[in-house]
Amino acid sequence: MKLVAGNMLWTNINKIPNQYNYLNESITCDVLVIGGGISGAIAAYYLTKSGVNTVLVDKNIIGYGSTSGSTSILQYEIDTDLHGLISMIGEKKGVKSFELCKEAVYDIEKIINDLEDDCDFSLTECFYYATKASMVSSLKKEFDARKKHGFHVEFLDKKDAQKRFSFPVEGGIYSKFGAAQIDPYRFTHALIAKAVKNKLKVYENTEITNIYPKEEHVLLETKNHFNIQAKKVIIATGYEGRKYIKEKIVHLLRTFTLVTKPVKNFNGWFHQCIIRDNNDPYTYLRITGDKRIIIGGEDEKVGGINSKMSNLSNDDLVSNKKYELLLNRLKSYFPEIKDIAPEYQFSGLFGVTKDGLPYIGEYKDFPNCYFSLGYGANGILYSILGGQLLRDSILGKDRPELELFRFNR
Ligand SMILES: Cc1cc2nc3c(=O)[nH]c(=O)nc-3n(C[C@H](O)[C@H](O)[C@H](O)COP(=O)(O)OP(=O)(O)OC[C@H]3O[C@@H](n4cnc5c(N)ncnc54)[C@H](O)[C@@H]3O)c2cc1C
Repeated sequence: MKLVAGNMLWTNINKIPNQYNYLNESITCDVLVIGGGISGAIAAYYLTKSGVNTVLVDKNIIGYGSTSGSTSILQYEIDTDLHGLISMIGEKKGVKSFELCKEAVYDIEKIINDLEDDCDFSLTECFYYATKASMVSSLKKEFDARKKHGFHVEFLDKKDAQKRFSFPVEGGIYSKFGAAQIDPYRFTHALIAKAVKNKLKVYENTEITNIYPKEEHVLLETKNHFNIQAKKVIIATGYEGRKYIKEKIVHLLRTFTLVTKPVKNFNGWFHQCIIRDNNDPYTYLRITGDKRIIIGGEDEKVGGINSKMSNLSNDDLVSNKKYELLLNRLKSYFPEIKDIAPEYQFSGLFGVTKDGLPYIGEYKDFPNCYFSLGYGANGILYSILGGQLLRDSILGKDRPELELFRFNR
């Protein structure tokens, strides 16, 4: 399956900051993190900050999995609306999930202050809106649920929205708090660089081919036939992590992204906030620090691993059609931005779970192993939660929040 395909943004605008050797001997450690995407990087950062003897391996190079394709919108809101989530899992759990995501946004801000790179991080505002009049009542319900539970939200009707945005809006929820954006590739590298200062050992081009969980530890084999003996293992292998789980926990979509060259103004775009509509599939927009516009959406269902959509190439007619649609939509939304010109176009696989929440924690048959599978639109915030909750589990602290994200829920 092609996790990402095309002319990627982050790995093109950034040089590779650090490279790491492959493992060429058998080793032991307290914790092995498998996967050098954002989930593994965050886990390694938190563990080494707590003084845990940690090793991280990636079968490829750091940050080139799904992380390289991420739009990196960080929002307290989950793809499943709060009112929908409450009806699915109950009020306490639904509200807690939203609150945890909100805290995770500000935890990233704290982490950034601890790193040597600001990773193009910025706190921002966000707008979640309806393009169809028939969808406004559901948004109002969502607004009421968020307001009732203490989220700072404002409802914009059609008229209010017209004053702020140059594209048609029937109604929407405007949030001044709980959203941010970041460069995920720089963030991943900066986290690992910091963890290395805290004694993390990193090996790229080191694939784990076998995992043998034992009562007291876990024995792992690499493709080059070296062994790693770890007391605990965190599996942060992104969508490839599904293969260890017997149940179907996620279904995959391919989402398409177009990135412009830097533009000169943002007329018609209130406070340059993050924008998302409530259509299915939805369209999402953000701005980078160097003033590019990212627009994404046009999701397509992916069949089996051999299906066309699983392996779609970027020059396929389907891909080209999607990019054309995104470009035309962007131009029609912002007629006053005259210099819109596409520079990067790519697609990536994207996982959706039944409740929009990730899978974090232990799984039967894998003693001493923990999974950090941040499936869903909030993948990066889920990586933060995974890193924190799994660090605490490994340090023997009880984290009841894990109940929200457990397998077989
Ligand atoms: C197009 C797109 C847009 C997105 N937009 C957003 C967004 O706006 N906001 C948001 O929060 N999230 C978003 N996401 C989701 C988010 O990017 C992902 O959840 C996140 O990047 C996943 O990181 P990861 O580290 O879990 O996985 P990955 O980045 O895929 O990293 C997993 C790593 O594990 C390694 N690996 C796999 N198997 C092995 C093995 N056996 N041995 C050793 N290494 C192995 C791989 O090489 C890879 O480097 C988006 C995703 C995509 C694709």
